[in-house]
Amino acid sequence: AKAAGKDCAALFDVAMRDEQGERIRLLERLRAAVDAGEFAVHYQPIVNLDNGTPTAAEALVRWIPPGQAPIGPDRFIPAAEDSGLIVALGEWVLRRACRDAAPWYQRWGTTLTVNVSPRQLIDPHFTRKVVSALRDSGLPATALTLEITEGVLVRSGGHAQQALVHLSALRAEGVRVAIDDFGTGYSSLAYLRDLPIDVLKIDRSFMPAGNGHGDGDAQQTALVRTIVDLARSLGLTTVAEGVETAYHADLLRALGCDRGQGYHFARPIPAPELAMMFAETVIV
Ligand code: C2E
Ligand code: CA
Ligand code: CA
Ligand code: CA
Repeated sequence: AKAAGKDCAALFDVAMRDEQGERIRLLERLRAAVDAGEFAVHYQPIVNLDNGTPTAAEALVRWIPPGQAPIGPDRFIPAAEDSGLIVALGEWVLRRACRDAAPWYQRWGTTLTVNVSPRQLIDPHFTRKVVSALRDSGLPATALTLEITEGVLVRSGGHAQQALVHLSALRAEGVRVAIDDFGTGYSSLAYLRDLPIDVLKIDRSFMPAGNGHGDGDAQQTALVRTIVDLARSLGLTTVAEGVETAYHADLLRALGCDRGQGYHFARPIPAPELAMMFAETVIV
């Protein structure tokens, strides 16, 4: 038994070292990819549920190594966050997205949303970087929404304080703030009332799996209704994520949710395709 235990420990060591090696290799490749400009920003429309018209687009980063299929952010954002690389990458995404979205805003009045990682919000220069990206692109501050996750503003200590200072300063400029993946965190509801936010994005895990008659659909619907009512009573705009079916869109409209985003409307697509979609669907 002792020998087996020892073998297990040795195996575990190898697995650990391998995982760490894997992470270091990924990080090296990511650093090189930033220098080589292998990133792209794709966009997914956010649709007004009352009339089906796109009102905004969310910027979603992609890593496209030459000759390979795009790599999704879930596979590299965590490593970029741990290493701090997200600060440079996030700034690049913001600048790229503002440049893409400025002419869309001019032509169709559509706005832009950009994901911001917690690491970016403890950068003392974050406010200045956002203001500079807006100025250089010509996109007005009122046409930009920053998406942050629930935890960012309620963590204790200086980090939440620094994030609050940035978001308050940016809101004073006209930038809006959205809580992303709402309902998946563990924070108190009081922050919805007290903190500088404008939009709630309801996490896609709350969408009913079926067409309203399946197991758990009633509970899911009740949760979405509760979130929408809560947001409305606080004067926040609601956006539902993961709208995959016409049933989802109809249900959300009936519940009074303002906007929807999901495969039912469109997948994330490159900038030229999104511009084509806006040209065809937005009535000016
Ligand atoms: P997120 O911010 O919650 O973005 C929505 C994700 O859901 C996107 O995945 C999108 O492709 C996917 N999605 C959209 N509609 C549907 C649907 O109807 N059904 C399902 N099942 N999924 C849908 P993506 O592009 O792979 O991004 C994953 C996550 O990576 C994002 O989740 C966000 O947290 C992070 N991310 C993406 N771009 C950036 C970025 O520029 N900066 C930072 N910090 N994070 C980013
Ligand atoms: Ca998001
Ligand atoms: Ca989300
Ligand atoms: Ca999500």
